[in-house]
Amino acid sequence: MTQDASESMPARAAPWCARVLTLYPEVFPGPLGAAPAGRGLEAGLWRLETVDIRCFARDKHGTVDDHPFGGGAGMVMRPDVLAAAIDSVSQAEGGAPRFLLSPRGAPLTQERVKALAAAPGVMLICGRFEGVDERVLEGRGVSELSVGDYVLSGGEIAAMAVIDACVRLLPGVVGRPASLEEESFEDDLLEYPQYTRPRLFEGRAVPEVLLSGNHAAVRAWRRTQAEDVTRTRRADLWARHRTRR
Ligand code: SAH
Repeated sequence: MTQDASESMPARAAPWCARVLTLYPEVFPGPLGAAPAGRGLEAGLWRLETVDIRCFARDKHGTVDDHPFGGGAGMVMRPDVLAAAIDSVSQAEGGAPRFLLSPRGAPLTQERVKALAAAPGVMLICGRFEGVDERVLEGRGVSELSVGDYVLSGGEIAAMAVIDACVRLLPGVVGRPASLEEESFEDDLLEYPQYTRPRLFEGRAVPEVLLSGNHAAVRAWRRTQAEDVTRTRRADLWARHRTRR
């Protein structure tokens, strides 16, 4: 595989692979089919495999869930069915980490995204119902990953968020790698505001410094803006940014 010489990631033998275990394989690639992820998928820069968990049901009705022991509302995904689905792809994984998308999981951060993009790929299990039997997570070495402190109805949208965030970091997927370097969360700062033509929009002018052609002044202005935005919107990030210095 050819690599962009400007990239720092090591050359890999096989393209980064997202293996998604889901009850709804038909929703993939969905928005991952749009650029830049979709273009990268077509170009073979990464791979997407979906596994239909229902194919591993043990009865002819395709049952994948059952009532929770101890009572309570909702249904729980059976461990035997999910384990069989995991085992069906484990040969091909090549050391890729395994995650269940879950509100209880470790929060997805840009730092985690970078680590996942540097791995051979990732296995993502999309939960449904109330969740998944705990024992399959223990037995198959599955960690949990959350896309935020809110509850979705299934892991598919969360899996797409993880995949999109990872593949845009793969060599060749985003046209200009430099555009990745100044993004939000680099240095624990949010991005500065952006402007384009027209110079005057509904009476609002573009900040003068951006038209000055003075690159040092532009850099300094953007830095101050990034700091102001982070300080006022995200005290948590700002505190981390301060401890970096
Ligand atoms: N009863 C669970 C929520 C189940 S929501 C609880 O209270 O924690 C159903 C499925 O949606 C979950 O199994 C998970 O796969 C997915 N999901 C919901 N919210 C999510 C989030 N914030 N991040 C990642 N996955 C999520």
